[in-house]
Amino acid sequence: MQGGGRNLNKFIVDRMLGKLAVWLRISGYDTIYISDLNVKDEDDFLLNNHRDRVLVTRDRELYHRSVKSKRKVILIKSDLVEDQIREMREIGVEFRIVMERCSVCNTPLRKAKNDEILRIMKREGIREDLREKYELWYCERCDKLYWMGSHWRNMVKFLKRVEAFDRDNA
Ligand SMILES: [Zn+2]
Repeated sequence: MQGGGRNLNKFIVDRMLGKLAVWLRISGYDTIYISDLNVKDEDDFLLNNHRDRVLVTRDRELYHRSVKSKRKVILIKSDLVEDQIREMREIGVEFRIVMERCSVCNTPLRKAKNDEILRIMKREGIREDLREKYELWYCERCDKLYWMGSHWRNMVKFLKRVEAFDRDNA
């Protein structure tokens, strides 16, 4: 971690770290993924924009340029997302699964309203009993429902494996 950043809660993530960006959003962190922005020169953009955010990069050269320009930056060394999560945990970024942010677009989630639930369930062919079983959350931008179903349970398991590995190798 360079640039004296204690505020490890807002990020902008380079193109090579798309999965990590999703995990940051799942964990509630406000995270911009550069590929979503459609900018021409990504390195240049990452150096000079959103400087209130910590840049997370896999690119050593971009990392060094960022340090030089006093941009807050984290260099990730691994290609595997589980190891990338470990690298970030080591510097104090907690990963936990919360229903706060859309993993696709970064918009904060809110509780779904009845008409939204009915409309989307009909559109997606989702079974009625979902409403009784789960609390439903809604992304306004994606027009999408979220709930802590099997997909989320698998993600919890994945994070537990990452944490267990950390303990075993401490
Ligand atoms: Zn969304």
